[in-house]
Amino acid sequence: MEKLLCRPVPCRYEALQQYILRLARVNGYSISAITTLIRKVGNVPLHSYNKQYRTALSDAVVKLTGHLDVTQLYDPHLLHADHKKTFDFKRVKICSLCLRENGIFNFNWYYRHQLFCDKHLTLLIDHCFSCSTPFTEKIIISMCCETCNIGLMSMRMLPSTIASININKYFCSDQKPLVISRKYELLEPYFELNKKKSYQFWLNNKDISINELYQLLIDILALFYDQKLMEEAIDKLINEAEQKVTLTSATKQVSTYLHNIKYTDFRVSFSRAMLAIHLNYKTLLIPIVWVERIYQSRGIIVEDINKKCFKYNKSEEVIFCLKNTHFLHCRNLAMVLKTCGYKPLLFPTLTNTK
Ligand SMILES: [Zn+2]
Ligand SMILES: [Zn+2]
Repeated sequence: MEKLLCRPVPCRYEALQQYILRLARVNGYSISAITTLIRKVGNVPLHSYNKQYRTALSDAVVKLTGHLDVTQLYDPHLLHADHKKTFDFKRVKICSLCLRENGIFNFNWYYRHQLFCDKHLTLLIDHCFSCSTPFTEKIIISMCCETCNIGLMSMRMLPSTIASININKYFCSDQKPLVISRKYELLEPYFELNKKKSYQFWLNNKDISINELYQLLIDILALFYDQKLMEEAIDKLINEAEQKVTLTSATKQVSTYLHNIKYTDFRVSFSRAMLAIHLNYKTLLIPIVWVERIYQSRGIIVEDINKKCFKYNKSEEVIFCLKNTHFLHCRNLAMVLKTCGYKPLLFPTLTNTK
């Protein structure tokens, strides 16, 4: 098998797919010509998420270039099946300033959360600034807009904001897909607390701009890091809830996350915030089982608590029975927890994991 005429060495921050398309560019191949060539050499499609195909694809490129280190290239397409929420292959994002430096596409741009360039502090772009045509993979070969032919390197970019720091802080620079996937998962309840169906919106809405996605992610991470904002969001949730008899019904929007062990981090954060604002909702009822679950205070003995609370100048029964269920008023939450010996857990574990 003949090797390609031009065989640039692969770059360590380039994905396999991006490298193949760069090979096509420097050798004057169109997307269909390179697809045919790959098919001939490796008997595999250029576009696939199939693990076996991806390995065979990488082997085919070794044959075409003689570069063994092609097999070391990062390949997000290979990981797609297990990490569907982590990457966004539908939106082709670039930093024109990075391209101006060396013409190399960065595998980081495949990450869903990567909406800005760390190096140039600009928002990435996914469409032509002149004619608005969305980018497709073909631009990696042509290096220009498919409609108006303006070069990618001269595309105008907007600056990102200082708030990008939170995105970097949260996702760090480790590129281990498993870690990043887990981090996406952990944010899901914060999206839902921010706004109903906001996580679905984040995952599925192709029509919104990079800037809107960027602002959304920044809002979510602010909620994740800032206890005060968490308190405000819960307050808003309760005030806007249609049913406000019990705290359980008022916070229904996030209840699945509060009861799921996968989101301990969220539960802890929620429970602390709730404790900070509980006096705002004097008459809201909280079922005792809810308190036990959310504050992990196992086995609250009603009589004991009532007796102890009585000492705090309480003339009323703090825990009372309504339709066979034990409740307390939200205003007494702190007192009941204190009486149970509840100690707030440390703040979300993830913030300490670097
Ligand atoms: Zn850049
Ligand atoms: Zn254009």
